[in-house]
Amino acid sequence: MDVLTPEQRHFNMSQIHSKNTKPELIVRKWLWNNGYRYRLHRKDLPGKPDIALSKFKAVIFVHGCFWHMHNCKYGSKPKTNKKFWNKKLNGNVERDKINIKELKKLNWRVLVIWECEIMKWDTKLEVKINNFLNKNITLFKKNTVYDDIIENDANYAAEREGEYNLMKAR
Ligand SMILES: [Zn+2]
Repeated sequence: MDVLTPEQRHFNMSQIHSKNTKPELIVRKWLWNNGYRYRLHRKDLPGKPDIALSKFKAVIFVHGCFWHMHNCKYGSKPKTNKKFWNKKLNGNVERDKINIKELKKLNWRVLVIWECEIMKWDTKLEVKINNFLNKNITLFKKNTVYDDIIENDANYAAEREGEYNLMKAR
């Protein structure tokens, strides 16, 4: 039986994560180790996606189940302060929808990875990410303008060192 309120649960979850690492860092590390290169929190894209892979014209959001109301055991709304949480959490979900719509309009493909999927990391998730990214390889070859690739490569090469140092620091 679950005796914790969702707030406490969420707090517990974040405590668990901070011991090891943030869910976003786990995904980033996996991507990096598998040869995927990316940029973080691009301000020029709707919703500043956690991870943008320009080569694949793909973005990945790493969503906390509580804050983005995932349909899982961590995603339930608190029973106290209902009004506040309704507004806050529904607002998050609404913004997510708008951001994803805007990104798709700009021909970006969007993958949401949930905190709970990351917590029980398994090959299913790896296959999911690989499929999501590789699906676009043919599209990419057909549709991408060459100059755009060069420019994006230069962009993320510039960020690469900082990212690498972060990984080393872990
Ligand atoms: Zn979840």
